[in-house]
Amino acid sequence: MTKYKMPAALPRTQVPGVYHRQIGDILITALSDGYADDGIQAVRNIDQAEALAMFEREFRPARRASINCFLVRSMGRAALIDVGCGRYFGESAGQIHAALAAAGVAAEEIDTILLTHVHPDHSGGLTDPTTGQRDFPNARIVVHENELAHWFNDDEMDKASPAERSAFFQTAREQMEPYRQAFTPVRRHRGSLSGSAPPRATLRTHTGGHCGYMISSQGQRLLVWGDIVHIPELQIARPEVTLTFDCNQDEAAETRREILDHAVLEGLLVAGAHIHFPGFARVVATGVSFRLLPEPWCHTLIG
Ligand SMILES: [Zn+2]
Repeated sequence: MTKYKMPAALPRTQVPGVYHRQIGDILITALSDGYADDGIQAVRNIDQAEALAMFEREFRPARRASINCFLVRSMGRAALIDVGCGRYFGESAGQIHAALAAAGVAAEEIDTILLTHVHPDHSGGLTDPTTGQRDFPNARIVVHENELAHWFNDDEMDKASPAERSAFFQTAREQMEPYRQAFTPVRRHRGSLSGSAPPRATLRTHTGGHCGYMISSQGQRLLVWGDIVHIPELQIARPEVTLTFDCNQDEAAETRREILDHAVLEGLLVAGAHIHFPGFARVVATGVSFRLLPEPWCHTLIG
């Protein structure tokens, strides 16, 4: 028997987070950009002690968000839904390029980036802020027109607090400006990547133009729902729980409940930026609210 020879240094990190899922003829690959930790001070519509107890019951640190992006390959083209945090969230995130390389795709090969919305954990990986150079030199950006109208509006920026100005407006401009000639603004229910992966619904109103992308092929469907859920430990059981950075708290909660209801009724497969990696799940009703059924890891690509 060959004895195991312990290497001088054992691994201190994981392999890149890459998980493939077939939807008809389309290959979707979840790419982990990493995670971000934060406190619960931004959480609204729930008592803080109750929120902490809910995290504790699930043995979860309060509050850790997975950050997932989704590579879409179809008809000889490669697109990304969101690009993660880039350099803004420290060492626990900004891993998309390692994941993309592990999936066998070069940044230059991405021809379209579909943004769910313009927040630093979704669009912070577009541009290197130290050089102003695009990280995806050949990509067009598909983004809802309301996002462009909001984040490039000086009056809106003047109304924001200094912290919001820096974290959201300035970051959005820094990241988006180098792509200014390469925007494809989406209006409600319009636009198409390839005929088989059309951008679909505007999911009001985490941000003014927050979008989900419905991907369908050969009778199979997947809703990549962006930030419909930020904190699965709280917002699946309590959809009314919102965050201070939801533009409209009431509508954000209402939309979350509507989409969760829709996912239950349709038995819809969903994928989320902040559902724990790899981020594919179905939703069931519990009578009073909802429960998330994360899809188990499958080593084949059969759905
Ligand atoms: Zn987010």
